[in-house]
This record gives sequence, structure tokens and C-alpha cells, in this order.
Amino acid sequence: MSKTIAIVGGGPSGLISAICFARRGIATTVYEALDCPLKAATYNPNRSYAIDISGHGLNAIDYIGAVDRFNKAMIQFDGVKLEDKVVTPWNEPGWIGSRGDIVSVLVNLVNEKYSDLITIHYQHRVTGVNVHQGRLEFEATNDDGTTEQHSQVFDCIIAADGGGSVLRAQATQQEPNYQLTKKDVGYHCKMITMDTNTDGLDPRYLQVLSPKGFCVAGAINGPEGPQDPLWFCFVPYPDDKRFDSLEDVRTHFAERCPKLLQYTSDKELSEFAQRPSQNIGRVTQSSQLYAGKVIFLGDAAISYPPIGQGINGAMESSMILDQCLGRAGFDTEGAVIDDQMLQQMAKMYNDRWHPETMAVSWLGMKNVMAKPWHKVRALAMEALNMNVLHDTKRSDIAYSEVYHRAKKQGPFWIL
Ligand SMILES: Cc1cc2nc3c(=O)[nH]c(=O)nc-3n(C[C@H](O)[C@H](O)[C@H](O)COP(=O)(O)OP(=O)(O)OC[C@H]3O[C@@H](n4cnc5c(N)ncnc54)[C@H](O)[C@@H]3O)c2cc1C
Repeated sequence: MSKTIAIVGGGPSGLISAICFARRGIATTVYEALDCPLKAATYNPNRSYAIDISGHGLNAIDYIGAVDRFNKAMIQFDGVKLEDKVVTPWNEPGWIGSRGDIVSVLVNLVNEKYSDLITIHYQHRVTGVNVHQGRLEFEATNDDGTTEQHSQVFDCIIAADGGGSVLRAQATQQEPNYQLTKKDVGYHCKMITMDTNTDGLDPRYLQVLSPKGFCVAGAINGPEGPQDPLWFCFVPYPDDKRFDSLEDVRTHFAERCPKLLQYTSDKELSEFAQRPSQNIGRVTQSSQLYAGKVIFLGDAAISYPPIGQGINGAMESSMILDQCLGRAGFDTEGAVIDDQMLQQMAKMYNDRWHPETMAVSWLGMKNVMAKPWHKVRALAMEALNMNVLHDTKRSDIAYSEVYHRAKKQGPFWIL
């Protein structure tokens, strides 16, 4: 008898984990609160940040044998430009796109190759968990909009339900060894759609349009895919920021990032003025990465301010969990998955990944581009060729190694 495994969340970490289990012949059931991303729009202008998949994400994509698929379906990533100069060249396989672009590639892979072993239940929102019994409570929404409550018991539950994880919140009430530390470092962002003159921009690069304003432009797939990119720019603020009028926004960007005005119509500037900002400064660290039968992956394991590593780290966490299953005995010939193996997998994963989560979260808290001192430090380090943050993108360097390198730079990192 195989063990029953549920995965809560059909985002990048949940889907990669399901694919890893399927590649070992192990069936999983995925519960996703939203509808299938292949049905819905691939982008939401309020949240369309361009994500680069670089080293850590590449490790995971390569691990599941999906490099060719990503090459076909996404924009190639060649690096980061600062005012038209390439500051971080990227020479390995890598891609740029929205979270939706990335999830769509993974869902297509599941549908085409692993549908016999991966069952995805869309519009199934998990509302509760008993971490020791392995019981999930969930609400299923039917096509006619009615809802039904269900519960089911599993041998193992993978929590991949993102930064607002319901399972994480409930685990703290049920498992004394599982504790959360939370803070808010004051980091908000607003996205602006770049809808004019973008033909001259090269979509293979993330582009820091002005060092002073730290406005980062990037492309995602358009309706026709990677050949038809749509452009957005990430603008950071220390708190929620609205503008009273179009004129206010124009004045703001004229000072902060004049280049952005070349790429935005009045319509988009007006929408930007009223657009709510997203709080991206919430940090949640956990004392360990499992509680009872639940194992935490991706943003559910750790949430931190974005430094281009959210999805990359999330996908790598799924790969590490799978490697731990192998080391816990599954790779031994004739091995059958049992409770002891699942427990060993959870402990090994915790030992291996927890230090990485603490390291990447420290780096995120030290690179809040809404804080003037953090911006000055980043620019000074760039000028001195000492910017260790570039190394977070590398496939061959762990986040903990980058953290130790930063720590060796001593006083630079006090604030
Ligand atoms: C403004 C911004 C900029 C960012 N920029 C970058 C970047 O440049 N590079 C980068 O790598 N990352 C970036 N990130 C972070 C990145 O989007 C996340 O780290 C990544 O999506 C985490 O993947 P995940 O699979 O762990 O969680 P998610 O992507 O959050 O997926 C979780 C899934 O679980 C589902 N879910 C949630 N609750 C439930 C429930 N109760 N029941 C069932 N399903 C549920 C959700 O619908 C979702 O599909 C950015 C994030 C933000 C907000």
C-alpha cells in the first residue's frame, strides 16, 4: 500500500513537489483554492511582476527535466541591466515571466505527463488541518457557485499554500515545537503597466530604470506568448502610496525615474495613482519546517521581502524535499514508502533547508529598496564590485554561503 499524500497549493512549489513524487511513481492529490490558471487571464496588472528564474529555480527545473519546456514557453533571461548597462549577465538557461506564466508551464507538464499520478482539485480551499492526525478540512466550490465542506485524512501533507499559509497558522496552535516569528519591515510596492514605446526594450533583461528610484522593469508573456511581451515596472515605497491626480504622479516620476514616463500613457499613470500597493515587507520565519504530518515548502515555509528569490527558493525547496526522500531510503532498491521514511524525509529536509530559509530571509531584510540606506548600500557595493547579492542567483552557491560572505563584509551590513 502506498502512502496517501496531499499537497495544499497548486503554485510553483506545490506543483514541482507533485511532479517530483510522480517521477518516483508516487501519487499525490493537490488542493488549489483558485481556478485552473490555464482558464484564467495570465496576468493581473496589479500583481504582474516579472520574475527571473535563475540558479536555484534552474536547479529545480533541470531536476524535473523541464528545461526544454521552459525554453519554449517563456522569455529567455540574459541578466539585469542598470541604466542600459548589463550588471548581472546570466549565461545559463534562465527565463523571465509572471508567476502565472511559470505555473502554466508546470500545469501543462502535469496534464501531459503525470495526470495518472497527480490529481489537482481546483476551487478547493483548505480551511483547517489536524497536523497530528493528518486530517484536512476543505471547502469545494461547484461550477454553479455552491460550496461543500469535506474532510480527508492523509499520511503526509505538503503545505505549499504560500505566504498567507492557513496550515502554518494552525500548526502553531497544535505543535509546540513549531513556532513563528513575524515582523513587518515596511516595504510596499506598486506595479505600473508600461504601454508605450516598449518595442525598443529587450525583454531578456530585467531593467533597473533609475538607480535612485529603484524602479525595475520586466517583461512577461503576452497573449501570443514570449514573442509578444507585456511590460510592467515595480516601484517600491515604504508604505501604502496613493496619488491625488495624474499631475502628482507625473511630478513624482519626473523626479524619481524620468525614463519611466517614456513608457507609460496617461491612462496607465492614472490607474497607477489609484492602485493599492502590496505589502511585500512581511517576514515570517518558523522554528522548524514540519509539524506533525505537515511539511512546509516555498513561501509557506518562509516569507521574506523579495530579492528575486521567492519562486527560485520555493522551487528549490521542493527539489530538496525530494532528494531527502531519496536519502531517507526511497532510492534503495525495493524500498516501499512508509511512515518512518516520511518522518525521516521531513527531518532531513528541515536540517538541510531551514538554514537556507534563515539566510535568504536575512538577505531579504537587508535589501529593502524602500529604505534609503539599503539603496545606498546596494549602489555602493555595485560600484565597488562587492555586491554579494548577485551570488543569490547562482545555481552552485547556497543562500547560506551568500549570507556568510555578506557577514564577512562586516560593518556594511549593520543597518
Ligand atoms: C511584488 C512581488 C514581487 C515578487 N518578485 C519576485 C521575483 O522577482 N522573483 C521571485 O523569485 N519571486 C518573486 N516574488 C515571490 C514569488 O511570487 C513567491 O515567492 C512564489 O510565488 C512562492 O511560490 P509558492 O508556490 O510557495 O507559493 P504561491 O505562489 O503563493 O502559491 C500558493 C498557492 O496556494 C494556493 N492557496 C493558498 N491558500 C490556499 C488554501 N487555503 N487552500 C488551497 N490552496 C491555497 C494559492 O491560490 C496559490 O496558488 C514576488 C512576490 C511579490 C508579491
